[in-house]
Amino acid sequence: MHQTLYRKYRPRTFDGEGGVVGQEHVTSVLQYECAHDKLSHAYLFCGPRGTGKTSCAKILAKAINCEHPVNGNPCGECYACTSIDAGAAPDVTEMDAASNNGVDTIRDLREEISFTPAALKKRVYIVDEVVNELIVDS
Ligand SMILES: [Zn+2]
Repeated sequence: MHQTLYRKYRPRTFDGEGGVVGQEHVTSVLQYECAHDKLSHAYLFCGPRGTGKTSCAKILAKAINCEHPVNGNPCGECYACTSIDAGAAPDVTEMDAASNNGVDTIRDLREEISFTPAALKKRVYIVDEVVNELIVDS
């Protein structure tokens, strides 16, 4: 099956082998917060393309929901980790704020956000391209 390099080499942990490269000031904080259960309800990742914003958000989504986290990193093997990697987790929603249906998606989000998670510990919404969209609209 065809797999893009971008997907194949997307980092799977905050640190260590296969981890995020070159963003230690960010990943070390996220890893610490996951390991010590000190998470905030929302995170804003800012930076140029290709610096790991979406990757960090996905690792964070897994680390929050992982059944067997290792020092704040997701294990990569439990139901939460594998279903999030496969894009099949019912409680993790990825959306592109710059797409045409962004408003409808946010409306759905507002309706369903009050429900408890269906299968995982926490609901996670990864909203891509938020800042780009704000700049375009202003
Ligand atoms: Zn896991």
